[in-house]
Amino acid sequence: MIKAVDVHKRFGAHHVLKGISLEVAAGEVLCVIGPSGSGKSTFLRCINQLETIDEGAVWVDDELLGYVERDGKLHQLSDAQIARQRRPIGMVFQRFNLFPHMTALENVVEGPIRVLRESRDTAHARGLELLERVGLQDKGGAYPSTLSGGQQQRVAIARALAMRPRLMLFDEPTSALDPELVGEVLAVMRDLAGSGMTMIVVTHELGFAKEVANQVVFMDDGRVVETGPPDQVLVNPAHERTKTFLSAVL
Ligand code: ADP
Ligand code: MG
Repeated sequence: MIKAVDVHKRFGAHHVLKGISLEVAAGEVLCVIGPSGSGKSTFLRCINQLETIDEGAVWVDDELLGYVERDGKLHQLSDAQIARQRRPIGMVFQRFNLFPHMTALENVVEGPIRVLRESRDTAHARGLELLERVGLQDKGGAYPSTLSGGQQQRVAIARALAMRPRLMLFDEPTSALDPELVGEVLAVMRDLAGSGMTMIVVTHELGFAKEVANQVVFMDDGRVVETGPPDQVLVNPAHERTKTFLSAVL
């Protein structure tokens, strides 16, 4: 479902992604681990076209991101075409990024009403279903400031799901949470993975990765150092750098 081939990204002279290649099949969960600054967030942002890539290519559902081939040449897509490509990709960030002046339910239904042109009734009914799915059926009327970090992050997941994504990207979704709130967010993500959602999850939660991931990628300094099933990468890593990282995180 996702194929990245030799993706490079530079910020000025700073070469941040140095040839990332990987594939994720439909329904798979890929966990990405690696030290701070290794390019994990940048890679997710490239998949979601929040950044443009300098070399290489990414396909989502067999569609090349950012370009269309015409007359044997690649042409850059328009902003509207890029917006259309981004729509089936949901993203959840470390910081919850909810609209503070809107209730939980309003946060969830905003995109479906404005972007998907769903009727208010349809959007609200689905919004309530989604809040129930993340365990917040009684919080629809609550403002973000009255919710815990874990609850806010679950609203953020419901909001992303409301856009009917085929792919969900998570960028350290539990890193900003108090430890006792991490489990409730991971439980929602585990449930989502169990429902067959294709997911790429950047996380330091190795227990989650071990249990839920089909594939783990260890990134360091803009490169994929090692990739494989969790039992291999997390338990019997082949590379010294992976071993060093794991022993520092555990
Ligand atoms: P990670 O998520 O693995 O911690 P990032 O992808 O956030 O790593 O960052 C990788 C490197 O790219 C870091 O050195 C960071 O400072 C740099 N970087 C990220 N975004 C930008 C940007 N918009 N402009 C310049 N440098 C950036
Ligand atoms: Mg990051």
